[in-house]
Amino acid sequence: DPDGVLARQAARESAARTYARTFRIVPVAASGMTVTGADGRTYLDCLSGAGTLALGHNHPVVVEAVRRVVDRGAPWHVLDIATPEKDEFTDALFAALPPGLARDGRVHFCGPAGTDAVEAALKLVRTATGRSGVLAFTGAYHGMTAGALAASGGVAAKAPMSGAAAEAVRLPYPYAYRCPFGLGGDATARVSATYVERLLDDPNGGVVEPAGMVLEAVQGEGGVIPAPLEWLRHMRRATAERGIPLVVDEVQTGVGRTGTMWAVDAAGIEPDVLVLSKAIGGSLPMAVVVYAAHLDTWAPGAHTGTFRGNTLAMAAGAATLRHVLAERLPERAAALGERLLGELRTLQRQHPCIGDVRGRGLMIGVELVEPGAQPDACGARPAAPGLAAAVRAECLRRGLIVELGGRHDSVLRLLPPLVMTDEEAGSVLDRLAEAIAVAER
Ligand code: PMP
Repeated sequence: DPDGVLARQAARESAARTYARTFRIVPVAASGMTVTGADGRTYLDCLSGAGTLALGHNHPVVVEAVRRVVDRGAPWHVLDIATPEKDEFTDALFAALPPGLARDGRVHFCGPAGTDAVEAALKLVRTATGRSGVLAFTGAYHGMTAGALAASGGVAAKAPMSGAAAEAVRLPYPYAYRCPFGLGGDATARVSATYVERLLDDPNGGVVEPAGMVLEAVQGEGGVIPAPLEWLRHMRRATAERGIPLVVDEVQTGVGRTGTMWAVDAAGIEPDVLVLSKAIGGSLPMAVVVYAAHLDTWAPGAHTGTFRGNTLAMAAGAATLRHVLAERLPERAAALGERLLGELRTLQRQHPCIGDVRGRGLMIGVELVEPGAQPDACGARPAAPGLAAAVRAECLRRGLIVELGGRHDSVLRLLPPLVMTDEEAGSVLDRLAEAIAVAER
């Protein structure tokens, strides 16, 4: 009785519940990219647990890995004590890391969520540098706990926390479509990079003792905004030259999502601290930070937590990492992403409500705008959150799960699993095109 489940949950669950409001389905089974509701309807899942399911739902290698742990009677929970599964996970992780971190990195197992890993990363660089300031970007999303929230851009979620959350210094992210400088195009990233450097060197710039710079190589919740690769290289240089650790939050971009194993790989850079969660645990809760050994100045017990060694997550994560590498899934994500971006740009030419199509690999954003409105100096028209919500609802009606994001909740976000077939990609495009055509009327 899906309606009964929905009604009982709505009556007893927090007012802050989110996905449950927009996706009025009661999933009871799932395989690959397909989710089946209690009413028997099936959906193509382009949300993938907010990017967690790199291999889709119930992938055989993940199911098998979890089953082996259960069948063996291994302990599921051991705090951060060593287990064969943790050993295997660490091996698989280091085999997948960029060369510098693979050679000389350390891994810290955090609590289960992305926000736990962000907190750990911020505390790590504060400990190592003896400084406290954090440099972060407009539109950033790093999580819901105090430190991660302070580094995030959105103000709604942190309003009730303003006293508790020490504010990060906010720098302009290179969002060309809604350029913070009113320039757009390549100029956005160039001016952003120049601004960041000048601010860091300005004795009156207000940057107090930076312990680290934290950024997403492709902003996710902020509206799927890929930073130009040259800008990423620039941030790497600017922080290295000033002795500021660079923390890259790959909670959403990691494990092949953007067409390379890590989003930083595309720019040929390595951060000092890599923050990972979501797909790293093969869809089970896990979060880690990986960092250069010279930052490892923590005393034993300096950062602890109960849920840091879930055996099922270690096994699922190791199986996922190995499969992603063995099957060259980052390359597959890159190729599928190119196809989707190309076809979405064709769609954009037919629909004036599509303001911008952007992404990297299988992290794709379609920004919806008011079709009749005047464009600004950069050619951007006002955001259309109402239309975006209508498109999302039409997608759901057509059996397609798509979530929104961005500054104004006006960006359709596609995060399909890396194992999406060509045929599934075609269905996603067909259903999305239909939903846009209907919602636009
Ligand atoms: N960082 C990024 C880039 C994210 O996208 C998210 C979650 N969307 C987080 C951190 C926080 O992760 P969690 O929700 O697991 O705390």
